[in-house]
Amino acid sequence: MQYRTYGHTGQTVSALGFGGMRFEEPYNLEKSVNTVLCAFEKGVTYFDTAPGYCQDQSEIIMGHAILEMQKSGKPFVISTKSAKKNGDELRRQLEESLRRLNVETIDFFHCWCVMTLKDWEQRKSAGVVDAILKAKEEDLIRHAVFSTHLSGPEIRKVIEEGYFEGVTLGYCAINFPHREEGIVAAAEQKMGVVVMNPLGGGIIPNNEETFGFIKTRPEQTMVDAALHFLFTDPRITVALVGFRNDDDVDSAIHAIDHYQPYSPQEIQRIRTKVEKDFNSLCTTCMYCNVCPEEIRVWTFMESYNQHMLKGGDSVSNRLKYHWANKIQELERCTQCHQCEEACTQHLPILERFEELKKIVAAEAANV
Ligand code: SF4
Ligand code: SF4
Repeated sequence: MQYRTYGHTGQTVSALGFGGMRFEEPYNLEKSVNTVLCAFEKGVTYFDTAPGYCQDQSEIIMGHAILEMQKSGKPFVISTKSAKKNGDELRRQLEESLRRLNVETIDFFHCWCVMTLKDWEQRKSAGVVDAILKAKEEDLIRHAVFSTHLSGPEIRKVIEEGYFEGVTLGYCAINFPHREEGIVAAAEQKMGVVVMNPLGGGIIPNNEETFGFIKTRPEQTMVDAALHFLFTDPRITVALVGFRNDDDVDSAIHAIDHYQPYSPQEIQRIRTKVEKDFNSLCTTCMYCNVCPEEIRVWTFMESYNQHMLKGGDSVSNRLKYHWANKIQELERCTQCHQCEEACTQHLPILERFEELKKIVAAEAANV
C-alpha cells in the first residue's frame, strides 16, 4: 500500500480509498462488513461513506466495521457527507452519522455534491458552512472538506474562498481535462484531493479495446492502468474505488501492489489522445455551459458516452445518481443551437438529446 499526506492536515491516508457506495448486498451486513475489513487488513485506511448510499445501509455497515477496526489499534480515517441545504438540517444529519458510524468525531466531513455555484451560494446563505465550521470547533468534525461536480474553474472559486481543507471530485484517465483546474487550485492551496469515479463509472475496465491506450505495460489490467495513471499524479491524495465485494478489493490492491509511475511522456501521450482523438466522446469540458435555459448539457452528453460505450450505469441512473439530473430538463430546450456552437468537440448535441429521450423511454418501458 502507498500512503500519502492529506494536504496540510498532516493526516496520513492510504492512496487507495474505500468507496462505500457500491456494496452488492447492502442488507447482508456480515458480508459487507467483511469486505470493509478485507480492505483494512490489506492496508486501506481511508473509508468513505454517506447517508443514502446503498439503500441507506452504507453508514450502518461502516459503523459495524469501525467497531472491529478500532479493536485492532491500527489507524484509519472515516469520511462522510451531507448535502442538506440548511445548517439545522445538516447538523441533525451529522449527529445521525456520528451515531451510525459509532464515532465521536468524523475525520473528513463533506459539504456534499456542490452542483452549481448558485447551489453553493444558497447553501452558504442558509447556514450550511457555518454549521460545518461550528461542528469542527466542537470536535465533531476533524477536517471540513467538500465534494463536487463543478467544472475546474468553478472548483477553483470555491477552493479560494478558503473554508475547506480538501476536495473530492470526479476525475479519471479519460475525462481529466474537465476538472484539471480544480486539481491545480487545490495543489496551490496545499489541499487534499480525493478522486472519485477513478474507473470512469465502469467504462474504463469494460472497454479495453477503446481505452487500452492508457496501459503502458502489457501485464497491466485496465483497473491497474486507470489507477496507475492517477497514482502518478502527486497532487492526488486518494483514489476512491467503489467496492462491491472482496474481489473488487483484490483487483484494486493488485493495482497498487504492481504500481509503477507513468513517465511524463506517457502522461502526455494519454492526454493528447483524450483531448484530440476522442472526437465523438464528450470530454465533459463544459464549454457548452452557455444555455440560456440553464440546461446542463454536459450531464446528458456524458451519460450518452456511458450508453455508447456500454460500460456503466443505465442512462437514467447515470443522470440521476451521478449528475442529480433527469431527462425532463430537456423539455426546456428551445433548440437555439448555442451549445452546439460552443462545443469543443463539435458534437451533434441536439441529435443526441433526441436519442437520449428514446433511450430513457425504452429503459423505463423495460423496468
Ligand atoms: S439548444 Fe437547447 S440545450 Fe442547447 S443552448 Fe439552446 S436551449 Fe440550451
Ligand atoms: S458537449 Fe461538447 S462542450 Fe459540452 S462538455 Fe461535452 S465536449 Fe464539452
